Amino acid sequence: MTEQQVKNYIGGTLVPAHSGLWLDNYNPSNGQVYSYIPDSNAEDVQQAVEAAEKAFPPWSGCGAQERYRIMNSIADLIAERREELAQAESMDSGKAIGTSRSVDIPRAEANIRFFATAILHFGSESHHMEGVAVNYTLRQPIGVVGCISPWNLPLYLFTWKIAPALAAGNCVVAKPSELTPMTAFLLSKICLEAGLPPGVLNIVHGLGSKAGQAIVEHPKIKALSFTGGTATGRILAATAAPMFKKLSLELGGKNPNLVFADCDFEKAVSTTVRSSFANNGQICLCGSRIYIERPIYEKFRDELVRRTKALKVGDPFDDKTDQGALVSKQHREKVMGYLALAKKEGGTILCGGEPIDPGGALSGGYYLSPAVAEGLPNTCRTNQEEIFGPVVTLQPFDTEEEALALANGVVYGLSSTIWTSDIGRASRIAGRIQAGIVWINCWLLRDLRTPFGGVKNSGVGREGGTEALRFFTEAKNVCVRY
Ligand code: NAD
Repeated sequence: MTEQQVKNYIGGTLVPAHSGLWLDNYNPSNGQVYSYIPDSNAEDVQQAVEAAEKAFPPWSGCGAQERYRIMNSIADLIAERREELAQAESMDSGKAIGTSRSVDIPRAEANIRFFATAILHFGSESHHMEGVAVNYTLRQPIGVVGCISPWNLPLYLFTWKIAPALAAGNCVVAKPSELTPMTAFLLSKICLEAGLPPGVLNIVHGLGSKAGQAIVEHPKIKALSFTGGTATGRILAATAAPMFKKLSLELGGKNPNLVFADCDFEKAVSTTVRSSFANNGQICLCGSRIYIERPIYEKFRDELVRRTKALKVGDPFDDKTDQGALVSKQHREKVMGYLALAKKEGGTILCGGEPIDPGGALSGGYYLSPAVAEGLPNTCRTNQEEIFGPVVTLQPFDTEEEALALANGVVYGLSSTIWTSDIGRASRIAGRIQAGIVWINCWLLRDLRTPFGGVKNSGVGREGGTEALRFFTEAKNVCVRY
């Protein structure tokens, strides 16, 4: 079960922050403080870096087979504690327990197992200069690397970063979001139990502007893998680029769904409900701008609204709940601010957007009914800025060219979804749409071997499969003359 005091995990021990200060950790389902996290600063990060530096030679030298063995034990323990971790994730983030059970925790386990195994198969190139020489590429771990993750998929994204870093032989200083620290803390206990050597993984809790910034600024941390908002990514890049750090930035999105009249209507509408409101719309891959070909605009809109209204919002720990609470009071205020803006910009809210009070012990929780809006021009702020909540907008289109122009008409380029039975058209659009990921007649179907990341202001670099292992290693060319 969750504990009252979250601790840092530094050099293989669980410790409070140097400052002795604590931050409140809220339970979004009832708005109450239920635990405290270390308010870490540069001193704690320094200690973590020293522990990581000490652990690096043996960890990078122990061989892929040994790293695989320990990481696989960590994955086994996650599997054993699936329910405990799922409960903790829902308590910390407000998400429906069904989502924690079916998405967050199984994926955290899969991330660790995937990269533990991947390192056994990771190879590098050689280039033969006939009769003269052979070149081979060494892929060597970088040393101490930093991993910083957000609150929306807490353990899922935390493990997605640390797993390839550790598998490749690096030692890690990591920081989960201060809003959702609990499962990373439980992971530190699992690492202790699994026998991960001290200092290989260090977890420093605290604020982004303090603990996070100290990780970014530390001269000994030579690579940073960051997932979070575009504005934060900009701050990171400004700090890290002059220090010549390797950077992987997975940032915000404003993803389009293109729904053509020849789509499989049932599949398109049922998946669109999911792609709009899964995890309360708090997934960077959720489609928030839905463009519908005019002949089916009204039919699709009415069905989407009907099914959205049927979603059950409330107690995250009730198995029947579709939507739990939003992650924080401030975040709900931000989302509601965008709904007010949508009205000001001339939009009509077709359903939702109301705070919900489930009553009783849950009265103080951050619940909001999922909202669908229409009548907003593509250029307005509601259609341009990331809301990252249960809000989607609908717009009709007449031609493929127009759909593409609307889809590409934002500064973001993370993911996109195309619904059509014309595979030629789908492939044409896939080639021209400005996004790192294109789903055709599906959504969030993930193969961990595929490159993952965004274009434009959605990020720099790619994660997933060998892309992540390449990021967490340096390539060195060795030329041998015959
Ligand atoms: P955020 O940028 O506020 O915070 C992300 C992490 O960065 C947190 O751990 C935070 O403490 C830390 N941080 C904040 N300021 C920092 C600083 N100056 N230096 C170092 N670290 C700092 O993002 P969030 O609100 O936690 O997450 C939501 C955002 O994440 C959305 O924009 C969403 O689209 C994005 N996201 C992107 C992806 C992706 O794969 N592209 C996945 C999930 C979420």
